[in-house]
Amino acid sequence: MSEVLSEAAVGLPERDERQALRVARFLMAAGTALLVCIALAACALLGLLPWRAALDASLGVLLLIAIFYALFRSGLNHRFTDPSLTAEQVGAAIILLAYIMYHAGPARAVLTPFYLVAMLFGVLRLSVQRMVTLAILALVAHAIMLHLLYLRGPGVNPRTALAEFVVLAVVLPWFAVMGGYVSRMRARLADSHRGLQAAVERIGELAIRDELTGVYNRRYLTEALAREQSRAERAGTAFAVCMIDIDHFKSINDRFGHAAGDAVLKEFAHLVPPELRAVDVYGRFGGEEFLLILPGTDTAGAQTCAERVRAKTEGALFPGVPRVTVTVGVATYAMKEPVSALLARADKALYEGKNAGRNRVVTIG
Ligand code: GH3
Ligand code: MG
Ligand code: MG
Repeated sequence: MSEVLSEAAVGLPERDERQALRVARFLMAAGTALLVCIALAACALLGLLPWRAALDASLGVLLLIAIFYALFRSGLNHRFTDPSLTAEQVGAAIILLAYIMYHAGPARAVLTPFYLVAMLFGVLRLSVQRMVTLAILALVAHAIMLHLLYLRGPGVNPRTALAEFVVLAVVLPWFAVMGGYVSRMRARLADSHRGLQAAVERIGELAIRDELTGVYNRRYLTEALAREQSRAERAGTAFAVCMIDIDHFKSINDRFGHAAGDAVLKEFAHLVPPELRAVDVYGRFGGEEFLLILPGTDTAGAQTCAERVRAKTEGALFPGVPRVTVTVGVATYAMKEPVSALLARADKALYEGKNAGRNRVVTIG
C-alpha cells in the first residue's frame, strides 16, 4: 500500500519512513471507511434505508477522513502521544458507526460487523489494555444508541436489542484480547528481528576483523585482493601492495614479554591508517606482518606511501619498548598474474630488505 500510494502522491509531506507507514495505514483505514458507504448504498438500494440517511452517514464518514487527513497533512499528529493516531481513529470510527446505526433503521444489524473491522486496525499497534478500552467504548456507544432508539419509539424490540448487545458484549472484548495478544506477538517478533539483525551485523564485523588490533584480518585482505584484481583486469588500472613486517619482533617479545609485543602490534596497527586514502585497504596479514592494498596506484606512488609508513614508525614512540622499525616489500600487479604471484614478489622484496639491513622499503615490479 505504501508503495502504491506514496505520501507525495496524495499531497502529504514526506517526513520520514515512520510517518510514511502511519499515512499508509491511515489510507487503508480511509479505504475501509468508504466500504461503509458502499454497505449503506446497498441498504438504500434494497429499501432498508432512506437514501437521505445513507447520504448523511456517508458525508459523516468523509468528514472524519478529511479531519484525520488534515491532522497528518499538517503534521499535527506529532503532538499526540501516539502519532499514528490509531486509538483515535478507531475510537472515532466506533462513535460514528453507533451514530450511523441510530439512523439506519432496519439496516442497523448489517453494520454491526464494522465494529470489528474498525478494531482490526488496532491489532497492528495497540496493547490489550487499549484494545479492551476500545471494546468498552463500542459497547457503551452501542448501548446508548439502543437506549436512545428505545426511547424514540416503537422501532426497537427490547429482547432483540438485548440479544444484539449481549452478542457484542461477548465478541468485542474477546476480539480485543486476541487482538492485543497478536499486537504483542508482533512487537516481540519485531524486537527479536532487530536483535537478530544487530547480531548478524556484529558477527559479520567480527569475521573480518583481527581480534588483537581491530584492523582487517587476513580473510578480508584476501577477499579485497581478489576484488582489486578483477577491477584491475576489468578497468585496466594498476594497483600495488605493500607487505610490512616489524623488524626483530621476536626480540621485542623476548626482551619485554609477549604483552609488550601485543601492545606494539596494537600501536603499530593504528599508526598506519592516517597515512592512507579512503580507498586503501589495510590489515594484519598474520603475526607481525601487515598488508596494504593501494588501488589505482603505480610503483612510485606505492613506494612513497610505504616510505611514509616506514618513517612514521621509526619516529613513533611505542610505550615500554625502544625504537621500533619496519621493512616494507612493495609490488605492483601485473595483468593476468595470480594474486599469489603478486604476494610472492612483495615477500621477495621484503626478504631483500631484511637482508639489506632492515628499516627500508624495497620494490620488485
Ligand atoms: P625479522 O626482523 O626478520 O622480521 O625478525 P622477527 O623477529 O620480526 O621475525 P620472526 O619471524 O623471527 O618472529 C616473529 C615473531 O612474532 C615470532 C612470534 O612469536 C611473534 N608473534 C607473532 N604473532 C604474535 C602476536 O600476536 N603477539 C606477539 N606478542 N607476538 C607475536
Ligand atoms: Mg615476519
Ligand atoms: Mg619481523
